[in-house]
Amino acid sequence: MYLDEVLEQNRKFVEEESYIPYQTDKFPDKRIVVLSCMDTRLVELLPRALNVKNGDIKMVKNAGAILTHPFGSVMRSLMVAVYELQADEIFIIGHHDCGMKHYNGEQTISKMKEQGVKDEVFETLEYAGVDVKNWLQGFERVEDSVQNSVDMVRNHPLLPKKTPVHGLVIDPGTGRLDLVTRGYE
Ligand SMILES: [Zn+2]
Repeated sequence: MYLDEVLEQNRKFVEEESYIPYQTDKFPDKRIVVLSCMDTRLVELLPRALNVKNGDIKMVKNAGAILTHPFGSVMRSLMVAVYELQADEIFIIGHHDCGMKHYNGEQTISKMKEQGVKDEVFETLEYAGVDVKNWLQGFERVEDSVQNSVDMVRNHPLLPKKTPVHGLVIDPGTGRLDLVTRGYE
């Protein structure tokens, strides 16, 4: 249980004005938006490896850095970053050894059942057209997943045509970036 610890630390943080080195505004100085994975190893490593600090970029994260729907919340975040928050380039950064690799959701579905989600719930969802397994689906090759997400953004009808969309893969151990696709013409 972490809540009280977090609140206590937070009280000290504010009281001691530890926020001062982080003060900035909502517009990214480097004018880019990054979609990456929520992996724990990337929390500090990714910004360091990209040489960015507070105030430099917009960051969107989810499980696997996967863009699954052209009108989902991730795409909306990228749109808002581009149109309203001065992001001119989009970086989609997957990583090696990602938990979403070879992940097909079946294991999580059994865990959901173990935690008390009833079979009827899955039946109802299926009846409503929700394919839970497909919804949880990860990927086989991270490079392919990054390329798919990049393609979805590049082909989006609402994205300004001039916006470069780059695809990269980061090593969660060393921070090394490999280019999958370069977004400039
Ligand atoms: Zn990951």
